[in-house]
Amino acid sequence: LNRRLAEFGTTIFAEMSALALRTGSINLGQGFPDTDGPDEIREAAVRALRDGRGNQYPPGPGVPELRTAIADHQRTRYGLVHDPDTEVLVTAGATEAIAASLLALVEPGDEVVALEPYYDSYAACIAMAGGRRVPVTLRPRDGAYHLDLDELRDAVTDRTRLILLNTPHNPTGTVLSREELAAIARLAVERDLLVVTDEVYEHLVFDGEHTPIATFPGMRERTVTIGSAGKTFSFTGWKVGWVTAAPELVAAVRSAKQFLTYVSAGPFQYAVAEALRLPQTYFDGLRDDLRAKRDLLSAGLADAGFAVYRPSGTYFVTTDIRPLGEDDGFAFCRALPERCGVVAIPNAVFYDHRDQGAPFVRFAFCKRENVLQEAVTRLKGLA
Ligand code: PMP
Ligand code: GLN
Repeated sequence: LNRRLAEFGTTIFAEMSALALRTGSINLGQGFPDTDGPDEIREAAVRALRDGRGNQYPPGPGVPELRTAIADHQRTRYGLVHDPDTEVLVTAGATEAIAASLLALVEPGDEVVALEPYYDSYAACIAMAGGRRVPVTLRPRDGAYHLDLDELRDAVTDRTRLILLNTPHNPTGTVLSREELAAIARLAVERDLLVVTDEVYEHLVFDGEHTPIATFPGMRERTVTIGSAGKTFSFTGWKVGWVTAAPELVAAVRSAKQFLTYVSAGPFQYAVAEALRLPQTYFDGLRDDLRAKRDLLSAGLADAGFAVYRPSGTYFVTTDIRPLGEDDGFAFCRALPERCGVVAIPNAVFYDHRDQGAPFVRFAFCKRENVLQEAVTRLKGLA
């Protein structure tokens, strides 16, 4: 393994899901739903397979039906108008969108400012691009996480190439407010920075609303927006994601993508094109279902003695284990399957400043209600 990747090892999600399997534990670690997305969308994938649509290499940027559906989604929901031919790129999940964006836009030695804790692939992809990550830490206070805009401003130097945003935010569930986004946008314009924004949880917002940073003045031409069918339609195994941005930025990301995967799996693209056109009741239903699950798991974790940071979005809830008399999230998560048959993720893996993340543990609530209830019962037995 080369020096750039040596520090990363195996991703925590693989490690913890393997641990869940090995011990027969309830897996509230890796974020994937235990119920698949809509039947009619699965049927659409089967139809595409049978009809021979996408069984051979689809077009590099993605099939036109999906690119048009993505452009329509951005326009009708956010008023962001994108040309499906030049301003939309289909990727192998958001994971590839993140990798291709960073590989395409970051020069060796460039600094990339990212909100800490951050999704684990960010650090690895910045490293693969030869960039240097500059974390700005979200601070837990009064039951929520907060971005200090002065810290963000101070993190930007002459070597900063881009800000890597994530809202709604994994793992904290923070949804950046319009005021925060406006301030970040002003900073990006003032310092002439690009913004790569990971908005895969855009439809999983329970309090407040999701606003793409690309909608702010001066941002459309400097923002790469990333979405994913995995989260929005509960098909994480399909690996269909996308990028929307100005033509030069999409062309750059595509240059990297063509040598990573060239194209993404064809039949699923047709199915996701249909999914993006599902009625609003689908999106509302997904959100309401997850909101109820958030409330169930949050209340259960509080009853079990955890301090709970109530998420405004995503399907994760971050907790502080110190009220349980523990302070090492790694040790806690490694022992949890033995102690009570539940798997969770130590937030420290999402930090450069590991000490800042040490006592925090993340639980996923994209699981059936009875599974969450059983997990809560088990966790209550910890005391
Ligand atoms: N970004 C964030 C913040 C995520 O939580 C995840 C997924 N789990 C991804 C990107 C990756 O998405 P995909 O599965 O579409 O590659
Ligand atoms: N994004 C998911 C999570 O945060 C997992 C994705 C993965 O396993 N890479 O749990």
